[in-house]
Amino acid sequence: SDHSLEYPVSPDEMDWSKLYPYYHDGGMEEGQISKTVEIADIGCGFGGLTVALAEEFPDTLILGMEIRVQVTQYVEDRLLALRENSDESNGYQNAAVIRGNAMKFLPNFFYKGQLSKMFFCFPDPHFKQRKHKARIITTTLLSEYAYVLKEGGVIYTITDVLDLHEWMVKHLDAHPLFERLDKEWEQADRCVQIMSNATEEGKKVSRNGGDKWVACYRRLPSGAT
Ligand code: SAM
Repeated sequence: SDHSLEYPVSPDEMDWSKLYPYYHDGGMEEGQISKTVEIADIGCGFGGLTVALAEEFPDTLILGMEIRVQVTQYVEDRLLALRENSDESNGYQNAAVIRGNAMKFLPNFFYKGQLSKMFFCFPDPHFKQRKHKARIITTTLLSEYAYVLKEGGVIYTITDVLDLHEWMVKHLDAHPLFERLDKEWEQADRCVQIMSNATEEGKKVSRNGGDKWVACYRRLPSGAT
């Protein structure tokens, strides 16, 4: 349960400088930094994708969001160690993690149109019919994701559970603010490669020879249809 979680009232209330101290300087207001988060790794688990994205996009702020306390702590320690051991002054300073329930209050963390990419990698499948409403892609939640994504931004999904893949595709297809990107686009996109191989869950699936189902969607301009 997450009733002990604390949420900022608005993105302005977030202490971003605690997460990304490298991007804060003395001339700024408390808590503020010179950039905003552009990439969210939702349910980041042990952080393999967050770390890989930090390397791929060294000038872009990446935020992992994870609901389990100890897993979040693990990722925090992992990122601090990477920062300390990096030869670059900005090495891994662009990646951070917060504990939070991504199914709640995302607009408290991010402004409208702030994000360019959101990743949903190997989300919990919630197999049972009566648990489907707990899935992280639903029509209601997609409207929130559309709110925090900028026009042209992309939702990335990957799973080894075919039923969940079909569920996500069905809901994303039906949503007026998202349009599926085709296989050619997937093959050319660097992030699809990264998310297929960088996460801990993805590596496990590879070891077990399992399938991975990918679906990516572009955030359409509001009022485009
Ligand atoms: N994305 C990682 C990977 O591919 O290795 C982790 C996959 S794991 C199967 C799913 C993760 O999502 C778990 O770490 C779980 O704690 C987290 N999670 C589940 N529901 C969540 C929520 N509502 N908000 C944030 N994280 C959540």
